[in-house]
Amino acid sequence: MVVHPPIAVCPGCQGFERSWIDAPAQASVFAFTWIHTAADNSVIGCLPYNVVLVEFSGLPEVRLVSNVIDVPHAQLATGDLLNLVWEATDNGQMLPRFRKI
Ligand SMILES: [Zn+2]
Repeated sequence: MVVHPPIAVCPGCQGFERSWIDAPAQASVFAFTWIHTAADNSVIGCLPYNVVLVEFSGLPEVRLVSNVIDVPHAQLATGDLLNLVWEATDNGQMLPRFRKI
């Protein structure tokens, strides 16, 4: 069973053994919304931005909250195919984001 986010106990078998797998390079949009009002001053410059629930082919248990980058407001739809891209934040943390294929 594949579980995301990682947790201590497998919900399928209650086991403690875990291993990592690489995220698939491709995904699709399961659901999305556009944010037009900043909840914090740090994101005012990003408005409007999308929040996307991404699903991966072959991993039906896994959905990931992320963003689709470089996409105009009217060109994002459920089912859109995406490529995974890793983006570095200002502090060097790597975030999984997506770009339309
Ligand atoms: Zn298990």
